[in-house]
Amino acid sequence: MFKAIVLEKTDAGTQAELRDLDDASLQQGDVTVDVDYSTLNYKDGLAITGAGPVVRQFPMVPGVDFAGRVAESNDTRFKPGDAVVLNGWGVGELHWGGLAQRARVSADWLMPMPAGMDGAQAMAIGTAGYTAMLCVQTLERHGLKPGDGEIIVTGANGGVGSIAIMILATRGYRVVASTGRMEERDRLMALGAQDVVDRATLTAPGKPLAKERWAGAVDSVGSHTLANVCASMRRGGVVTACGLAQGMDFPATVAPFILRGVTLAGVDSVYQPMAARIAAWEALAEPDLLAQLVGNTREIGLAEAIDAARDLLAGRIAGRLRVNVRR
Ligand code: NDP
Repeated sequence: MFKAIVLEKTDAGTQAELRDLDDASLQQGDVTVDVDYSTLNYKDGLAITGAGPVVRQFPMVPGVDFAGRVAESNDTRFKPGDAVVLNGWGVGELHWGGLAQRARVSADWLMPMPAGMDGAQAMAIGTAGYTAMLCVQTLERHGLKPGDGEIIVTGANGGVGSIAIMILATRGYRVVASTGRMEERDRLMALGAQDVVDRATLTAPGKPLAKERWAGAVDSVGSHTLANVCASMRRGGVVTACGLAQGMDFPATVAPFILRGVTLAGVDSVYQPMAARIAAWEALAEPDLLAQLVGNTREIGLAEAIDAARDLLAGRIAGRLRVNVRR
């Protein structure tokens, strides 16, 4: 038997509860994993509360990522005892996910744990941190370099935002954090931000073009915030868009793109090919970065994850929530 959070669809909406399950209930897959850690990402918050249409079939075990050890394997790439990490591929949406002590998945979705990283560190990073790295790698693929100018990170206290600050600062960029929680200013500066701006300066409808300020941007917020960030990019600047914490809309004009040559690059973490995943996770296994995760991570037990999901969506969590599924 193992413990799992199970989501059911009822007339009253999505119901989440901690249950005891047996191995026979696990879904199809080549590899069975003893999960040690998962995390709470924004998408998990939407799934557990039912606030967004994330779960495509019920009952569902949520959790879009996990780290653990292989228990049984029918695939030659993995053997019992191997440390593994998984994020995306529709796990926690279409296939039972990581907020459980056991998971059975396709071997194609699993990655060996990167050298120099353990399961606790991997899930202090989780999908949010992996997405932050994809954003930074995208900026650099478009030619951004330290010294080009200020980089704005929106949703700075969130999982993606906080780790994007750490990655960019570690690489020598000058980072400006945008947040609705100015009381967290000192924490954001400690993560590596050199300045903090109130997100209220970005969340309302703005002009098609504003004063040029940013050389690059990591946006996990969308809506007017993304439109205003694009409007205040410097000539040739690059914006990565990965999230919708303010909204899915994008009320912008083409002015920044056609008059300043700004690039808007979308980032999807779920269906990245394996080579891109490995490159991002290996880059995250950088000792200076791993050392900083402690100050950005709070650990909770599996039973606490249901209430924590509500707190996450209400913007009451700063940094990352790691879920120790054995606690
Ligand atoms: P978090 O909940 O940890 O962080 C979101 C942050 O956004 C909050 O902490 C808050 O930061 C800010 N925010 C919240 N509400 C608003 C609002 N109404 N207006 C402006 N800012 C707001 O979520 P994650 O960091 O895990 O994810 C962020 C976004 O990225 C989500 O939309 C998520 O779905 C998306 N995402 C997309 C991925 C992909 O594959 N494309 C992968 C991972 C995440 P502050 O308090 O500092 O203002």
